[in-house]
Amino acid sequence: MTEERVEFEGIYNKLPRPIRRIFSWGRSFSIWPVHLVTGCCSPEFMQAAGPRYDMERWGVLPMASIRQSDALFFVGNVARKMMKRALRLYQQMPEPRYVVDIGICTISKGPFYDSYSLVRVADYLPVDVMISGCPPKPEAILYGTMLLRKKILGDVDEGAGKET
Ligand code: SF4
Repeated sequence: MTEERVEFEGIYNKLPRPIRRIFSWGRSFSIWPVHLVTGCCSPEFMQAAGPRYDMERWGVLPMASIRQSDALFFVGNVARKMMKRALRLYQQMPEPRYVVDIGICTISKGPFYDSYSLVRVADYLPVDVMISGCPPKPEAILYGTMLLRKKILGDVDEGAGKET
């Protein structure tokens, strides 16, 4: 656990529960993910963000700035070299931060299960939500973001820590 995390949890956990609920409620409606679009799942993610499915109506707004982001969305296969960069990005994100896998490649390398260069995200980072599929439909991506919202709201009862 990082020093900043300990400090954040120390302050956050001292707040009364109703106040923490308000914080979490607000956070659950403003998930700003950085999306690492590294594979062919990307058109489905674009659909989910586009006008038809419009994930922004739940406050999910793809964000280009890592320091203002709440979640790291891995969209598609992740190479070992890319994971090094992703870890650096993750370290720069403010607490609390969440990780979402989109596509079977991020979960288990999918059709490239025997690849020497691809990696599973969960081997490097604590993944909060895994959205399976090759590629997952926009509906599945939206459902995954709903699960993430539920998890953020659930953090109130467990403190600021994440379930892993
Ligand atoms: S899960 Fe399927 S669609 Fe997504 S990156 Fe892997 S091979 Fe491509």
